[in-house]
Parts: sequence; structure tokens; C-alpha cells
Amino acid sequence: MVKMIAQGAADRRGRMQQHLQHNRWVLPRTRWHRDLETYAAVAADLKRGTKQFLRFRGACLYVGRLALAALVVLASTLIAIPEAYAQTASVHRKTKAAQAKRAELTGDSKQTTFRLGLSNGVRAEIFTLADPYRVVVDLPEVAFHLPEGSGEKGGGLISAFRYGLVSEGKARIVMDANGPVVIKHAAMNPKDGQAVELIIELVPTSAHAFGAGTGAGAQPQPPPAPPVPQRDVAKGAPPAPTASPGREIERAPKVTRAKPLVVIDAGHGGIDPGTTSAGNVKEKTVVLAVALALRSQLAASGRYDVRMTRKTDVFVPLDRRVQMSRELDADLFISLHADAIAQKGLAKNVRGATVYTLSEDASDEEARRMAEKENNSDAVAGLQTSAFEGEGDVRNILIDLLKRETSNFSADFSNILVKRMGQSISLSSRPQRSAAFKVLRQADTPSVLVELGYMSNPKDEELLQSAAWQRRVAASIGSAVDAYFSRRTATAR
Ligand SMILES: [Zn+2]
Repeated sequence: MVKMIAQGAADRRGRMQQHLQHNRWVLPRTRWHRDLETYAAVAADLKRGTKQFLRFRGACLYVGRLALAALVVLASTLIAIPEAYAQTASVHRKTKAAQAKRAELTGDSKQTTFRLGLSNGVRAEIFTLADPYRVVVDLPEVAFHLPEGSGEKGGGLISAFRYGLVSEGKARIVMDANGPVVIKHAAMNPKDGQAVELIIELVPTSAHAFGAGTGAGAQPQPPPAPPVPQRDVAKGAPPAPTASPGREIERAPKVTRAKPLVVIDAGHGGIDPGTTSAGNVKEKTVVLAVALALRSQLAASGRYDVRMTRKTDVFVPLDRRVQMSRELDADLFISLHADAIAQKGLAKNVRGATVYTLSEDASDEEARRMAEKENNSDAVAGLQTSAFEGEGDVRNILIDLLKRETSNFSADFSNILVKRMGQSISLSSRPQRSAAFKVLRQADTPSVLVELGYMSNPKDEELLQSAAWQRRVAASIGSAVDAYFSRRTATAR
């Protein structure tokens, strides 16, 4: 049975690779663009050469350089210089990060064209993903200066698109497709000067045709994988002891350290903005501001070793956040987020902060919806999410948690946190809830996820952006951290 499932997964992987080859377009940095740089370099050489000539450094050198430059131009025009050679060629000049200033979608449900105006040519990789249907464009570091609200409204086959950094030095655009699509054509076309326009033409395809490549859509969903022993949530982590009834779990002793280690996790980032308010305030921005304020708060006390899962506007996958906490053997993990409510009628009235802890069954529908939304972060960033991942892992971790003290400590911290935050900011009507948040699946580290407020509420939206409020909420979380650790130290004596 296990073998069959493993075989199924291997087949699926095989199909995926095939699919990616079939529906992956790689646009190298265009040769004409490299030629442009070569010409620029030759011009610079000529200028330098002229100066040298004028300085009587000898006409021979000048002619020599000119001849060399001309040879290189000839070579680059006639022979396709491999990228690697172009990178090291003496005439190559390092280009600045490309700037994206314009992005648009045109066409209809029969054919949709995506256009991106770039200041200079870059390498681009374009591919599609299923579950949900997406088109992903990977670029090197690109500075996005697109008009506000770009990508919110889709067009044709695309319902919306996002853009941003997906890791240091790597930018990405993720388009949400209304259905299965195929990349009909992709090109990097020259415009004025060094500018280029990336063009991607999309046409609809059948779920079957799409599924033949990805294993998605056409086939029924594979059954959830049975809990796999020796496999842990975080990739690359050492296998955690698995729980089975009647078997005692050996817990690795916590590293003895002078100061407790606290991990602050600012949600979302980069290409994943999180919730965006009516006034275009992004969750990723406000939670990072509060996270940085909390770090200052905790670091100033000198009592903690403080680490952050991200310090800048960069995307970090959920698994990686969990893995960081595990590798650091953190004593406390605080994930910061901000919520929003979709129903217009309710948005005005619903506000305040909520503290979530991990549980298999959500405490209520709202909490379940919240976890689903937050767990979607990887898909938003255009990562392939495995259909096998999920239920089994949560159950395993939860069994572990129940056997360990971790969940008690999480609940402890949640109690203290709600009390302290309640003294300085507004709380939601039910400030303590629980649900299956991926980022809280940590067997050894007490962890909470704080929704700081509702971006859909005008008052909360205003406060979330206020530096004074950010410091106030950071101070209240900081005081809860103090209270929590002083209690733990007291009971340990
Ligand atoms: Zn969030």
C-alpha cells in the first residue's frame, strides 16, 4: 500500500517534470541586449582610447584597443556568446537591477496577453502550476515601481496577479488563472534604448490537458497519505520521534543557555502581501513594523536572544519559518499577522486583536477560515503545494504536542498575552482561539499566532499604521514575554 502510494507520488513527480519542461519557457538575457552593452563598452573604450591618444600615450595602443573591441563586437554578433562567457567577458559591464514600471493584461477569455515593461533585459522563466491554477514568472532581482493597485484587477484568463521578492535577489510574478491555461508564446521584446517588454500569451486549455502534465485537475485527488514514521514537517530536519500509544517520547533536552531564545515571525513578505486594506495598507508591512518594534523592545531588556524569520520585505515559506525555529531550538515563537473580514456589513464593527494557538479542530468557523487563509501563503507565492501534505502531519505533531508540555506552555503564554495586550489595545470579541496553523506546528517550541487587528476596520487600519500604536502593542507583547519567562524560571526552581 505504502509502496503503491510512493509509486504514485513518483509517477506524479515524473509527470510534473515532464509538464514543467513542456510548459516552461526560459528567456535568456537577450543577445541583442548583450550587444548593446558591448557597443556601450566599445564606446567607453573609444573615449578612453581617445583620451589616451590625446595624452600622447601612443596611437598604437589606441588602434590595438579599437581592433580588439571591434573583434569582440564581431564575435558577439556572429557567435552566440554563452551567458557564462558574457558574464566574464572583459567588455561586459555589470548592469543595475532592472526596474519594472508598467504591467498590463489585455485580451479576453480566448487569449490573454500579459505585458511587463522592464528597464533592461533580464533572464525570465515562465511556468504554470495547478492547485490552484497559476502562471509564475521568475526573474532576477527586479525593482517593482508599478502603479498602485497593479494586479488587483485581472483581465481575460487572469483574475489577479502579485509581484515581489520571493527570496534575496529573486523576484517573482504570480498570476492567478481562472482555469487551466497554457503559455502559447513568451518573449522579451526590445523597446527604446535598453528597455524591453516581457510578453506572455496565454490561452485556455482543458483540465485534462493541463492535468496530463501536472497530475492535477484530470485525476481525482489522491488519498491523504498515511502518517509516515520518521518524517517531520520541516524538510531536512532530523526525524522526530513519532507518537504511538503507550510509547514514551524521548524529548531532547533543551540547550542550556543563559538567555531564552525568542523567535519573532513577521507574517508574509515579498510577493505575498497578506491582507490588503481598502486604503492599500499591506499586512506584510504593518506586521514587520510591529515585529521590529518588538525586537527592539526585547533586545533592550538584555534578557533575551531575539531572532527574526525575516527582517526585510522578503518572502519566507511557512516550512522554512518552522524549520528556523527548530534549528534554533527556540524557547518561544511569536507569529504576527493582521486579519480582515470580507463581509462589508461586518467590517465596520469587527476589530481588535486575537491570539491563536495550534489545534487540530478549529475553535470556531472564523478560526478555521483564518488558518486556511494564513496557510495559503505558499500558494500565493507560487510554490507548488503537495496534495499529500497536511492532515497526517498535523495529527502527528498534535499527538506529539499532547505528550509534551509544549501545548501547555503555548496556552500559558496565550493567557498572559491576552491579559497584557488587553491592558493597552482593543481585543476582538473572542480573543483566544485555536486552529491548525502550519506555522504553529512546532513540537518543541511554545508558539502563538497573533492577529493584531482587522485591516478591514477603519479604526484598526489607522492604528496598525501608527508608529506609536506599533510601539504600544510591542511593549504589551514584550511585557507578556517577561511575565511568561519569569513564571517558567520560578517553576523550574
Ligand atoms: Zn497573515
